[in-house]
Amino acid sequence: MAISIQYAGQDIDSPLPDNMSKTFVSVALWAFSGWLLGTWLGAATGWAVFAMGLLIMVLVSGRQLSRIVRWTQDIDKPPPPSVGPWDEILAPIYRKLKQNRIDLQERQRSLHRAILAAEALPDGAMTLDQDMTLQWCNQVAAEHLSLNLEMDRGHSILHIVRAPEFAHYTQQTSWDKPLLLHLKHLGRERLLQLHLAPYGAGQYLMVTRDVTLIERLENTRKDFVANVSHELRTPLTVLTGFLETLHDMPETALNTEQRQHYLTLMMEQADNMQALVADLLTLSALESSPSLDSQPVPMNELIQTALTQSQALSAGQHRFVAHIDAKLNISGCATELASAISNLLSNAVRYTAPGGTITVNWQRHADGRPRYWVQDTGIGIAKQNIPRLTERFFRVDRGRSRQTGGTGLGLAIAKHVAMRHQAELEITSEPGRGSTFTIVFPKNRLCEASAQQHAA
Ligand code: ADP
Repeated sequence: MAISIQYAGQDIDSPLPDNMSKTFVSVALWAFSGWLLGTWLGAATGWAVFAMGLLIMVLVSGRQLSRIVRWTQDIDKPPPPSVGPWDEILAPIYRKLKQNRIDLQERQRSLHRAILAAEALPDGAMTLDQDMTLQWCNQVAAEHLSLNLEMDRGHSILHIVRAPEFAHYTQQTSWDKPLLLHLKHLGRERLLQLHLAPYGAGQYLMVTRDVTLIERLENTRKDFVANVSHELRTPLTVLTGFLETLHDMPETALNTEQRQHYLTLMMEQADNMQALVADLLTLSALESSPSLDSQPVPMNELIQTALTQSQALSAGQHRFVAHIDAKLNISGCATELASAISNLLSNAVRYTAPGGTITVNWQRHADGRPRYWVQDTGIGIAKQNIPRLTERFFRVDRGRSRQTGGTGLGLAIAKHVAMRHQAELEITSEPGRGSTFTIVFPKNRLCEASAQQHAA
C-alpha cells in the first residue's frame, strides 16, 4: 500500500508501511512471549504478559505523541528526538518547513530591497488597485499629494486627490500622455505631472513628478524672449520710420539741419539697441560662466573710471561727492565689478533731476565688511516697487528709462554680479527724496593688505 502526505503541494514519502510492520512485529513478540509463559506458568499469566506488553506499547506511543504535540507549539525548533516511528515522519516535514522559512526570508528581503529602491526614486510612485484604491506609495508621492500611507491605505485616490480633471484622467482607457495638475500644498501652488500605467491584473502604477520649477523656467524663458523682442522692436520701428522718410523724400525737401536732426534721432535708437545687446551679452556671460575667476581688483581705479563716465553723462548738471578708501581692495572679477559699479552710478545720474547731489562711497563698515554705495537726491522709488527692481526689464517709469537710454537690465546685472561675489545688494529709497544702492561684500573677499590694515 503506497501512502503519501501532501505537504505544501509536494509529496513526502511516508514511512507508514515500514512502521506498521514494526508495530505488527512488536505485537507478535508480546503475543509469543505471552504464549511461551502461558504454556509454562499457566494461560492467565500468558494473557497478563500479553496485556502488559500492549499497555506498555500504548503508554510509549502516548508519551511520544504528547512530545510531538508540545513541539507543534514551537515548530521553529527541531522535532523531539527518539519518538519512535514518528522520527521518520517528522524529519522530512521539519526539513520542508526549514526550507520554506528560508525561501520566505529571501522573498521578504527581495521585497524590502524593491521597496527601498522605490523609496530612492526621485519621482513619486504609488500602486493602486482596479478601484483606484491606494495600496502603497513612496515618500515623494506622499509629499506630492499630501498622503499619509497609514491612514490613506485602502482609500480611493479619487477621494484624496479631489480634482475633476484627475477623475477624468483615471477613467481613460489608455494613458499615453501624463496629466498636468495644479495643486495647492501648504499654501504653495505647485504643478504636478501624473502618469498612470497599468500592470499585472487590474493593478496600476502612478508616477508623480513636481514640474513647478520646469514650468517656471519655461515661463521665464518665454517672457524673456517676448521682452527682448519688444525692447528691440521699439527702436527698430523708429529707425525704419526715419529711413523710409529719408528714402521717400526728394533730396531737396530736407535742409541740412533737418537731415542732421533725423540722423541724430536715428543714432540714438541705434545706441539704445547697442546698449541692450551689450547688456544681454553681459547677462549671458554672467549666466554661462559658473565659477568666478577671482583676482585682486583695483577698486579705486574702477570707481574713478565710472565716476568720470557718470560726470560726462551728467554734463555738469549734478554735484558729485566721493569718499573712497583708495587702499581698500577686494578679490573678484574686475570686468563684472566694473559693470555693477557703473550701472549704479549711471542710474543715480539718470534718475536725479539737475542740481541734485550724487555721493559715492567705498569704505569698510564698522563690522569690517567693505561696502560700495551710491546715494542720490533723485526721484526715489515707491516701497512696493523696490523688491521688483532687480527683475529683468522691470522699470518704474518706462518712458523715463527709455528717454535716458536705459535697458531695464542694469540692476539685474548688478544683483547677479553681487551674488557671484557672495555680496548683498541693498536698496533703500524714499519717493521724492532719493535712493541709496549698496553692495556689501563679505570680509573674506578683502585683499591681504586691506585685511591687515583693518586688523592693525
Ligand atoms: P534701467 O535701464 O531702466 O535704468 P535698471 O535695471 O538699471 O534699468 O533699473 C530698473 C529701474 O529701477 C529703473 O527703470 C528705474 O525705474 C529704477 N531705478 C534704478 N535706479 C534708480 C535710482 N537711482 N533712482 C530711482 N529709480 C531708480
